Amino acid sequence: IYIYICACVIMPCLCSCMSQGAKEFAYCPYSKFRVGAALLAHDGTVFTGCNVENASYNLGLCAERTAIAKAVSGGYRSFKAIAIASDLEDQFISPCGGCRQFMREFGDHWSVFLSKPDGSYKEMTIEDLLPVSFGPEDLKKKRLFTTENGS
Ligand SMILES: [Zn+2]
Repeated sequence: IYIYICACVIMPCLCSCMSQGAKEFAYCPYSKFRVGAALLAHDGTVFTGCNVENASYNLGLCAERTAIAKAVSGGYRSFKAIAIASDLEDQFISPCGGCRQFMREFGDHWSVFLSKPDGSYKEMTIEDLLPVSFGPEDLKKKRLFTTENGS
């Protein structure tokens, strides 16, 4: 499910209405901590996500990863921005370390908008959030030793 919207109004809307709206669907019976995400793809398509927890706690999914998995499974791999929303009154919601790496997979120069419920936001990049990161390009770099046939 995705929504198409004009790029000129997307950033404030991504932060105030879309990620906040995505939060409404959060399934968080254990943490009771709702998180929403709105991911803007290169062509203006927006994918939303929420956290999806599980009785087996460690299987829970963050909102950011839910949104990215929805986008990738829909054929998208190029992103301009992601906005993240929570119910924290006085703090911009920050992505967990796992999500920073998950976002990094798709580049380190796109924007992450950390928002508050009032719609205010702070813009950062993946590189700001995960400096000196490891990404898919690193797997292709010259190595001193490689195994044959993957063994
Ligand atoms: Zn996370």
